[in-house]
Amino acid sequence: MLSDKVLKIPKSSTLQITAKAKTLKQKGIDVINFAAGEPDFKTPKEVITEINNAIENNYIYYAPSKGYLELRKAIAEKYRELYNINVDHEEIIITPGAKQAIFEAVATLLNPGDKVLIPTPCWVSYEPIVKLCDGVVEFVKTIEEEGFKIDIEDLERKIADSKLLILNYPNNPTGCSYDEKTLRKVIDLCLENDVYILSDEIYDRITFEKHITLLKFKEARDKIVLINGFSKTYSMTGFRLGYAIANRKIIDEMAKVQEHTVSCAVSFVQIAAIAALKKCEYFVRMMNYEYRKRMEYITKRLNEMNISHIKPKGTFYVFPKFNVNGFKLAERLIEKYHVATIPGEAFGPGGENHLRLSITIPIEKIEEGLELIEKCLKEMSS
Ligand code: PMP
Ligand code: GLU
Repeated sequence: MLSDKVLKIPKSSTLQITAKAKTLKQKGIDVINFAAGEPDFKTPKEVITEINNAIENNYIYYAPSKGYLELRKAIAEKYRELYNINVDHEEIIITPGAKQAIFEAVATLLNPGDKVLIPTPCWVSYEPIVKLCDGVVEFVKTIEEEGFKIDIEDLERKIADSKLLILNYPNNPTGCSYDEKTLRKVIDLCLENDVYILSDEIYDRITFEKHITLLKFKEARDKIVLINGFSKTYSMTGFRLGYAIANRKIIDEMAKVQEHTVSCAVSFVQIAAIAALKKCEYFVRMMNYEYRKRMEYITKRLNEMNISHIKPKGTFYVFPKFNVNGFKLAERLIEKYHVATIPGEAFGPGGENHLRLSITIPIEKIEEGLELIEKCLKEMSS
């Protein structure tokens, strides 16, 4: 008999549906792919060049388990430059993808049975990761009318016996982000109740308004594990590179989890990532400009189509609401119209009757896709 724990974990619907869309495309079917949670821009040339140089320069062996010092220093420098925040390089661990950083953090923080609060709708992997680490998930409500902001009263009700809160902003799938006042309230509640916060800020550079990092709250630094990575900011999803920032004790313990599972992040990718941080600010700005244009476009069109939605504050996702089940709608869309989307139900309570549309396709395709969605909705309501 296999592990009950693993058998109960669902597959990642985001990865499954994205893979299905890519397979249909390979078969020559013209799929409009609103499903993929990855940028559609080619990784900057500076990074590719450095990959080749790093291999030539023998960065082909195991790296130190916490990651190369030069990269950790470059990340610390970036936090100074962007947010005016001091991070010591010993407070950083480099991981193969942000997902692994989340896993290592959760594994390090939890004892069996510890309660983890997750505001929903939320990204599909948090609950499975907590369960793999023997934690118990309790969802916290968000308020859709307020852009899916965390419901502070619900948080207050549930926080007392919790170990960890997983916060993700800008949020996948809702595009929600936070002002300083709301973050302050969350921090105060967590400090009062001795609760850790995992702050997944992987979309911090894909924003339509100023991002406030949780690290800004100095007094809470020992309770925060910040997650970030290169997948979204530099269009490097396939390179698998992420990192965590936390106090040194937590990072050193996470390094043990890393050593015994994946050893380290890929050596030459780490070296190339230094070029991303130091030479590719123009690329981050260019992508942000494009996403902003696409976001303006899609939200305008959704308004014209009378489809209820919240205008995202960041990320490349929109999360419109329909009066039909998201699974049913997504299935009909892919089967009949070859439009790939992720059903809102996959993101937990609050996601019912929504679809996540990723705007990582050109505006012409967005337009074409929306017309097909309109057609599909008409067909389903008749
Ligand atoms: N967090 C969020 C909110 C995400 O959307 C993703 C998507 N991949 C990740 C973490 C993991 O990113 P990666 O492992 O590619 O660095
Ligand atoms: N995070 C992206 C998404 O939500 C990529 C797939 C995944 O890792 O879940 O689609």
